[in-house]
Amino acid sequence: MTFRQGGRLDTSGVSGGGRGGRGGRRGIAVGGGVGGLAVVLIALFLGVDPGQLGLDSGATGGPGQTSESAQQLQAHIDQCDLQQANTDTICRIVATTESLEDVWTAQLPDQAGMRWVQPHTNIFASTVDTGCGAASSAVGPFYCPADENVYLDPTFFDQVLVGQLGGSPSGAAQMYVVAHEFGHHLQTMLGDIRRSQQDPQGASSGAVRVELQADCYAGLWAHYATSSPAPDGGAPLLESLTPGDVDAIIQTAEAIGDDHIQRSGGARVDPQSWTHGSSEMRRQWFVTGYEQGSMQACDTFRARL
Ligand SMILES: [Zn+2]
Repeated sequence: MTFRQGGRLDTSGVSGGGRGGRGGRRGIAVGGGVGGLAVVLIALFLGVDPGQLGLDSGATGGPGQTSESAQQLQAHIDQCDLQQANTDTICRIVATTESLEDVWTAQLPDQAGMRWVQPHTNIFASTVDTGCGAASSAVGPFYCPADENVYLDPTFFDQVLVGQLGGSPSGAAQMYVVAHEFGHHLQTMLGDIRRSQQDPQGASSGAVRVELQADCYAGLWAHYATSSPAPDGGAPLLESLTPGDVDAIIQTAEAIGDDHIQRSGGARVDPQSWTHGSSEMRRQWFVTGYEQGSMQACDTFRARL
């Protein structure tokens, strides 16, 4: 997947270190402002396990400990342009969020009669405070429904996705992950995200259906990504998506299937414990969204799993 050269990249929707974000929603004291609410983040491949969040463990350290890397991340984000998005992971994330905005701004009114509201994206290192509590990179990329923010630690891609799970190192694979998280934002807008918590485990559970739908929405984005014009009517940000890109995404979707993760961790494959779906299911639903480009085709809640 190649971003076109030239043209401006709007970096305002992405911040470094988990700061910035959406006005009044940010800055909630962890364990304070969210106390009493059932606030659970939706991680890329791990189940919804509050024990993973590092809540009350002091995992975030003091403000001084994280501010330096936050500043560096912010400076990195601020100097991104479209050319760098083809080679630099952080800039690629920024540009992907803009491509996602272009596609959903066009598709959501057409397909669901709703106006798209762009989520804020936070690029962090190691730990981050969120509306869902303090989280560490160990949970992988995630979406927090409480603050409607996407959170990514870019070291995840090389260290975990490729290094541990055998996902593709290509840019397309990283873009798929961002698009999947944006799928959770759409589910939050539509009210479907709660189905994940109502029925959190098992091969045909609500949680798995929510995850597969996010894969399908990522496929839907890929379907339109090279044809959806920028809001100003300019050329699409992405100028190519090759069969090799699709293969890389499929390899990655399979790498984060629950059965593959269980097998690669030396565990028995146990469908009753699944939270995201098997490799085959994840592949299938990405492909469905990619081939059909239709939100209706992404109705995993009615599908037989
Ligand atoms: Zn997910």
